[in-house]
Amino acid sequence: MKVIVGLLHHESNSFNPELTGLDEFIVLKGKEVIEKSRLYERASLKGIIDTLTKNNIEILPTIVALPTSEGGLVKREAYEYLKDAYIHELKKYKNYDGVCLDLHGSMTTEDLIDVEGDILSETRKIVGKDIPITVSLDMHAMVTDKMMKNANGLVSYRTAPHIDKYETGVRAATMLVKVLKEKIELTMEGYKIPFLVSGERSETDKYPMNELLKKIEEVDKEEKVIYSSYCLGFPWADVEFNTVSSIVVTQGDRKLADKKARYLAEEFWKKRYDFKFTTPAYSLEEALKLAMKEKEFPVFVIDSGDNPGAGSNQKIVEPLIYLKEHGYKEVLYGSVCDEEAVEKLIKEGVGKQKKVLLGQKNTDPNSGKVEFICKVKNVNKYEDVTSVLVDINGIDVIISDKKVVMTEPEFVFSLGIKLEDYKIVMFKSGYLDPKYKPYAKKIMLALTPGYTFQELEKIPYKRVKRPIFPVDRMDEIEFEKYN
Ligand SMILES: [Zn+2]
Repeated sequence: MKVIVGLLHHESNSFNPELTGLDEFIVLKGKEVIEKSRLYERASLKGIIDTLTKNNIEILPTIVALPTSEGGLVKREAYEYLKDAYIHELKKYKNYDGVCLDLHGSMTTEDLIDVEGDILSETRKIVGKDIPITVSLDMHAMVTDKMMKNANGLVSYRTAPHIDKYETGVRAATMLVKVLKEKIELTMEGYKIPFLVSGERSETDKYPMNELLKKIEEVDKEEKVIYSSYCLGFPWADVEFNTVSSIVVTQGDRKLADKKARYLAEEFWKKRYDFKFTTPAYSLEEALKLAMKEKEFPVFVIDSGDNPGAGSNQKIVEPLIYLKEHGYKEVLYGSVCDEEAVEKLIKEGVGKQKKVLLGQKNTDPNSGKVEFICKVKNVNKYEDVTSVLVDINGIDVIISDKKVVMTEPEFVFSLGIKLEDYKIVMFKSGYLDPKYKPYAKKIMLALTPGYTFQELEKIPYKRVKRPIFPVDRMDEIEFEKYN
């Protein structure tokens, strides 16, 4: 038996005006997908490949398109390139029994194309209606009618922060193996839940997601249910197909899939007022004041509005200006993405001081860079990111030539930084990565400006389908079913 596999990921933020180009993806084609599997060893695709291989199924690789960071909407020509590469590889194969893909679910192009819906419908056209297609999705997928129509089984991560990507790949592949070896039919139904929620209100080890995930486990135990999922959508995608969803895949029982998906949607809706920040959240001013009152340091104050992990551009220096103007010291701030500034500071050399223009003043893309006097403390290259550590008025600032999702303490340590030297560590991030938790005496979110602004009620959405909670007041609702 033979199964086609591939991976295409990006979380596309429609508020970030900088479009995402092809240079922000690592692309592997054909045989390279297998040869360079170390590049995605924790991804669902690895779980898919391992599960299929264990079941003596031959792997037919297409492409891997892994973003180096999340970002703005994907450029038209970048998506066309990736899609053509995928279709080209797919069409090389003539004999196969199934397709199993690792997709994000919230990748959108500058033309507002629902990428996963497009990829799945193109795949369906090529492989025909009888070839089963199963997909592993990110928990922040915006599931569309097109995705539901063209896939036989969708299943999403159950953890945020995402630590079960591999296991989700195992689930997606297991569904396919059941079809191929046990000859069962997959039947999938789902409901749209008109809701916008950020990851910072829906970490899965905290209420209410922890309880909602128990409902998923409960539904999964039903005879004939294969897997059920909640997909939480992506709040910084202003697109009409943005939605939270409940999806249930059964062994050929459409009625049961419908009943259980509806049940999950209702359970979710009941808790709509309970999605509070899972980390205490304050204005920047308040967060910094509270942090300084603590007895044990460092306190991590997250610059949550400019999180590259959810597609902001990591350039906004408004919080840095605030820190400087209010005389905060013993603070580590970063990372600010600015290639030009990194080049200039490296040229200047360690120990030297230089005036440089840095970042972007605020969310207005025309607000321009801001001048700071930087004293270079260290320079380092970590993986393919070059960074400088500088002192700005007693504040240590990391400046990098590329966006850096702040998930690896090693990145910070490689600049000679000791976190215990600071009172406040202010990272451009969303919920703090578990790897940093041992270093943080306390964690708070600062509701800072940026393209991942956390107060969704204040975001001027133009395209999301209204009404939607919590932007609009909604009580009794009729859930829309996927068709
Ligand atoms: Zn996610």
